[in-house]
Amino acid sequence: MSTLFPDMSIQQFQFFVREVYEIPNNRHFDIGEMLNQIQRFGMRGIKGIRKKDIEKIKKNLIISFSFFMSILNRLNIDIGEEIWKRFPYLCSYCNSCPCSCKEKKSVFRQVVYVDESKRPQTLSGFQKMFNEIYPASSRTLEHAGVHLAEETGEFSEAIWAYRSNRTDEEFKGVMFEAADYFSCLVGVFNSLNINFAEEISKFYPHNCHKCGNSPCVCSYEIIKNYES
Ligand SMILES: [Zn+2]
Ligand SMILES: [Zn+2]
Repeated sequence: MSTLFPDMSIQQFQFFVREVYEIPNNRHFDIGEMLNQIQRFGMRGIKGIRKKDIEKIKKNLIISFSFFMSILNRLNIDIGEEIWKRFPYLCSYCNSCPCSCKEKKSVFRQVVYVDESKRPQTLSGFQKMFNEIYPASSRTLEHAGVHLAEETGEFSEAIWAYRSNRTDEEFKGVMFEAADYFSCLVGVFNSLNINFAEEISKFYPHNCHKCGNSPCVCSYEIIKNYES
């Protein structure tokens, strides 16, 4: 039985996705096809923003996030680590909290002092951290949605770049973009003032949200025709 709680860490969710979806995803999808699923459900979530349909936003962005985790599992990327490296309670560009990029645009990131004691232990803690770096009050929900779409595209580009040459530099690009995607994903939930981890734990009370099994036994047909 694979169960999630609202106080889960990012790593616990990543592990949950491995337990429940690694086998079916390995059998059904290559990396490009999983990217497609991230986009498919991500864009449905963005449609939810336009339609002001909160349930649609929540459900689709959670499914999109689970496919995102499946890609990271396949590439053996520990996303919690990468997020902290890129956002150590500071904006990844201007090194401030809250972000002051609008006031001063820095071209290169300087070496920063990282205060390990501030590192969040839970997914909720990371969501709170991002709300302090990038306050929801400084943008609209639509703005947060556009930014998420942008970062989904950049993550996808980074994966394709890595798949073409397979250099270490390009792999680093994948890790950077993964952290950026995550920051924008929780940004949408901050704009909605909804606790992301709590929604994830409600969506996956036990095992796969659709078939209830761990590992998931949903057929390809079910995934292909999944309405959300
Ligand atoms: Zn900034
Ligand atoms: Zn299933």
